[in-house]
Amino acid sequence: DELISQIAAGEVVERPASAVRELVDNALDAGATQITLRLLAGGVRLIAVEDDGAGIPDSELHLALRRHATSKIASLHELESVATMGFRGEALAAIASVSEMAVLSRPPGQASAFLLDARSGELRPAARSQGTTVEVKELFFSTPARRKFLKSDATELAHCVQAVRRHALARPDVGFAIWHEGQLVEQWRPTFGPAAAGDAEAWRTALGRRLADVLGEDFLQQSVPVHLRRGSVEVTGWAGLPDAARSRADQQYCYVNGRFVRDKVLAHAARSAYEDVLHGNRQPVYALYVRMDPQRVDVNVHPTKIEVRFRDSREVHQAVRHAIDNALAAPRA
Ligand code: ADP
Ligand code: MG
Repeated sequence: DELISQIAAGEVVERPASAVRELVDNALDAGATQITLRLLAGGVRLIAVEDDGAGIPDSELHLALRRHATSKIASLHELESVATMGFRGEALAAIASVSEMAVLSRPPGQASAFLLDARSGELRPAARSQGTTVEVKELFFSTPARRKFLKSDATELAHCVQAVRRHALARPDVGFAIWHEGQLVEQWRPTFGPAAAGDAEAWRTALGRRLADVLGEDFLQQSVPVHLRRGSVEVTGWAGLPDAARSRADQQYCYVNGRFVRDKVLAHAARSAYEDVLHGNRQPVYALYVRMDPQRVDVNVHPTKIEVRFRDSREVHQAVRHAIDNALAAPRA
């Protein structure tokens, strides 16, 4: 079973940033409003993700680390409309199989926190306010072949930061902080409070502010707002003006129902909207948020859930293309 877990881990955890993505997914699923990461050596020596979410009762800590144990969906039917980031119940087990993991958690109403050491299985009371801290130490220590593929600490750190950036750009209601070797590397404060819940306009404003915080004021100033609804597909966000294009495709963010995805249909649709205004290898910048009926998109295509499959990809392609076309053609203030 250890071996099976390690093989599965290969699909889920490629490098520290993949663990970061999964742990932040979990914190968001737990309803965290503040997520703090502490990293050592680009995440290879330590990834600690701390949240103020719902926590895990001491009686369920063991279960959380078991393979295919998820508290998030109860049936295959629910898989069709999954609203949480996680649902496969693989991540913690996979990461634990290639690291030294400890989970410290305290749900509201539980008298004390409990710490579970994944390796020894030891469970003991510990100190913590409400929420969860997952500590991942010495990633790939038992799989040296994989460890060899890791790049420099600086590169691994950059990937970790990028993983958090992807989350942060979709969740202006959550605060994020990243520490590396005791230094604060990034900090993004929440700009959308519970009081504004349900206010679409306020959400949009908060998203814009988060975008400026994360990608820089320039990103927002050199882009135009995107908004289009077509059939059951809604596309919002910001599309960079042609002048903001870059030599690398490193500022292209696409979300489907709040989940960061890398998808050929979306990328192609965006690309074709810029066809006439961008030349050579210039890469557009954009942050696009696609909302659609969850039944019309399959997120369970790959263990990392970064790929999706649309039931009607033409519909999505046209919506995205037209959304950007319209945005770029609109007269600018
Ligand atoms: P999944 O997210 O697909 O359910 P994971 O392996 O990522 O699977 O997590 C297993 C379970 O552990 C989750 O279903 C959840 O119940 C619990 N869990 C993990 N991380 C947290 C967290 N930060 N806060 C609360 N519960 C968590
Ligand atoms: Mg998960």
